[in-house]
Amino acid sequence: MARKYLVETFGCQMNAHDGERIAGLLEADGFQPTGRETDADLIVINTCSVRERAEDKLYTRLGEIRAAGVETGRRPMVAVTGCVAQQEGEKLLKRDPSIDVIVGTQALKQLPGLVHAAEENSVPRVDVRPYDDVSFPMGIAKSSDPSRAWVSIIEGCNEFCSFCVVPYTRGHERMRPVADILAEVRRAADTGRVEIQLLGQIVNHYQAPDDPGCDFAGLLERVSDVEGIRRIRFTSPHPRHATDRLIAAMRDLSKVCKHFHLPIQSGSNAVLKAMRRRYTREEYLQLVARLREEVPGISLSTDMIVGFPGETEGDFEDTMDLVRQAQYSFMYSFKYSPRPNTLAIKRMADDVLESDKTRRIMALQALQARIQLALFQSQVGRVVEVLVESKSRRRDHELAGRTDGWILVNFAGPAEWVGRFMSVRISGAAPNSLRGEVVEGPYAH
Ligand code: SF4
Repeated sequence: MARKYLVETFGCQMNAHDGERIAGLLEADGFQPTGRETDADLIVINTCSVRERAEDKLYTRLGEIRAAGVETGRRPMVAVTGCVAQQEGEKLLKRDPSIDVIVGTQALKQLPGLVHAAEENSVPRVDVRPYDDVSFPMGIAKSSDPSRAWVSIIEGCNEFCSFCVVPYTRGHERMRPVADILAEVRRAADTGRVEIQLLGQIVNHYQAPDDPGCDFAGLLERVSDVEGIRRIRFTSPHPRHATDRLIAAMRDLSKVCKHFHLPIQSGSNAVLKAMRRRYTREEYLQLVARLREEVPGISLSTDMIVGFPGETEGDFEDTMDLVRQAQYSFMYSFKYSPRPNTLAIKRMADDVLESDKTRRIMALQALQARIQLALFQSQVGRVVEVLVESKSRRRDHELAGRTDGWILVNFAGPAEWVGRFMSVRISGAAPNSLRGEVVEGPYAH
């Protein structure tokens, strides 16, 4: 009987895509998926270390798996992959000797071989070497999404923002050949996917290693030319690489969704400098103004950190002011926590009181909630095109889809419409989503 695996992924979309790749590698090796921990012969915990809380989830899960094993007398093999695996390597075994395999972010393809080796010799296996290899067997990643495919275009990052662990866990920036990317996009289209999400730590820094004339805007043009693809998204860009060519591509290419995730992290120039972001709030706001002018109706979102070392009340007020000006459709906001190896942990004291961090993040989130609700209410009465993603999590007989601007819309409809495009009239606004009624559809695509 085939052995069963379960992959649990934490963190960003890059990591979620790695989870799809892990699933594909294990299935190619004869494993079958299971959704139940009690059935699994192998549990892979695909970790994130970008924030302390995300890292803690690994230790919580390892404890739970150990406790379940004591209760049932059945112990599955445990593999740890992702950023914590890369960051901690063998040290993880000291903390939890029940781990069987540790695989770093660049060693993913070694996973099946390491699982076999650990099983045969009952000795834990660790591989966190920097392979520098961005190739991956075509068509192996396992996605359960019928309409969207993630396609990695860049791995690693060279920016070294002072708060960020990514350059240490994902390595230096490595670009995939444009020929490989387009082959993967065509394959996605051939298997019925209508939306492509291009992935990279700084996705808009792309420069094809196999074609000097192909930058990120050029890549968007080429992906647009692929028949069958209706929507193109990308994450996560860096504001300082938002070139004129990219803005023009967003304006002119109808398949490129009119949503730009533009992480700013702080609205204070002093904090931005300490973070090593290499842009000012003024430059950022100019970029926002240009995007709004060139791409009417564009939806903007951002990432924000509060309580970075040295952040004063005045700095925080600058952040609040910037948020009022930028008018984001949504925001991911976090309290600063020091991460291993970073410049901030080495050189800066984590000197903002926890109580101040909490107060600031609550004020920021309350402001964003007001802005967001007003933006969503302004959509009421409009007819928008929605790609149906899934059945609604909360209500039976309801579906959830996304607008071009990445805003969630819930409306009544049958499950057969998942993966199809609909015209929906917006009838109401909730804090994090819109409600709508079908006007037309589903369309053939
Ligand atoms: S750009 Fe900065 S925040 Fe983004 S992954 Fe690179 S180092 Fe981290």
